[in-house]
Amino acid sequence: MKEFRSDISGFYKLSIDERQKLLSELVDLNQDDLEILSTFGYFQPAQIDNLIENVVGSYQLPLGLAFNFKINDKDFIIPMVIEEPSVVAAASNAAKMARKHGGFHSDEVKPIMISQIQITQLKDIEVAIESLKKSKELLLKIANEQDPILNKLGGGAQDIEIREIHTNKGKMLILHLLVNVLDAMGANVVNTMAEAISPKIEEICGGKIYLRIVSNLATHRLARSRATFDKEMLGGTEVVEGILNAYEFALADPYRATTHNKGIMNGIVALTLATGNDTRAIESGAHAFASISGKYSPLTKFKLDSDGNLIGEIEVPLALGIIGGMTKIHPMARLALKILNVKSASELSQVGAALGLAQNVAALRALASEGIQKGHMSLHSRNIAKLAGVPDDLIEKVSKNMIKDKKIRVDYAKEILKKINEGKNL
Ligand code: NAD
Repeated sequence: MKEFRSDISGFYKLSIDERQKLLSELVDLNQDDLEILSTFGYFQPAQIDNLIENVVGSYQLPLGLAFNFKINDKDFIIPMVIEEPSVVAAASNAAKMARKHGGFHSDEVKPIMISQIQITQLKDIEVAIESLKKSKELLLKIANEQDPILNKLGGGAQDIEIREIHTNKGKMLILHLLVNVLDAMGANVVNTMAEAISPKIEEICGGKIYLRIVSNLATHRLARSRATFDKEMLGGTEVVEGILNAYEFALADPYRATTHNKGIMNGIVALTLATGNDTRAIESGAHAFASISGKYSPLTKFKLDSDGNLIGEIEVPLALGIIGGMTKIHPMARLALKILNVKSASELSQVGAALGLAQNVAALRALASEGIQKGHMSLHSRNIAKLAGVPDDLIEKVSKNMIKDKKIRVDYAKEILKKINEGKNL
């Protein structure tokens, strides 16, 4: 038998058809596999081939809608792209509990991004800092020459911050260029500016520059939202007490805080993906911010109002754009933004923060009452039935029987299917 090898060169030079053909020789694909690979949906193959390298197909995920969101007195239908059952329903549910008390109040989010410039091999750090400070206006001018459109619209480089860090390779100066990127996520914008000002920085302070790149820890672009969730709708005093206990658990224990924040990101990442934004940027920023105090902590806070309702707050960096990147290229992202009807990147981040908070409350409510598995069961059992090879028209029946018998397992799905096929009345 021919040895399987993955060191294939020139794959990128092939057309999508040729890549699929070669792949099918390499991993023995059948006709069904090839049909899945050839289903591009609303994308033109040529369009998708331009997005990343070595494209062989397109990958689909469900787009769901979360309802009941009132944010700053405006109603929103929120598009979410996610594969996990219960998340969309949970968000809608928690939003209803907040709606009773006026909905969510999100702050304006200033779209300020940081671009980092790493200056090494400086002879005199103090002198370099002084020279850079004196040259601030010149550096901002060079940066702003790079993006006339952004400038014309009122954005652009606004300020610099200089930080001294101690590394295993000695002291370094890190210059932060602060840029108002308006309605963009902004990574490309600020990277271009950082590269443009770097030669001048070397000229000014004599060091050697290595990295010039956006920071995903967007601490100048924090999204904040708060809401009051109805005590009775949450399930009463005992459930609310359970939520407060869950919050204290997350505050004290990073193992719990990680999962607490994962629940928040269920919502935020689903919106990020739906709107064609960069999920990795949002994830890394959120988790870094969660540990900015030196201890990984929850991104939300909870307390009670005088009537015993739950007041929730969230603070998270959200570099979400409504222009640039994939937002206007991806047909479904464009449509998602239309459904959402946001007018600015700031408004999108305000929605993201409210959604993250709602998601968190919904998960904590479930954990503090019936447990998380109940909500998952229906879809989970359908997935298990599918996995067991149950035909589409019997999935509902098999799934219901597994839930009734509290045995949601592939072997049990097969057992039920066998009984149905034998004509047993289930
Ligand atoms: P972009 O460069 O595609 O578009 C932004 C440009 O749009 C601006 O430069 C501006 O000239 C123009 N523009 C027109 N109207 C505007 C308005 N109202 N507001 C703002 N800009 C306006 O996009 P981007 O947001 O700079 O970059 C986002 C992309 O960068 C994403 O795809 C992301 O994945 C990628 N990226 C991310 C990282 C990272 O996060 N570390 C690094 C590199 C690249």
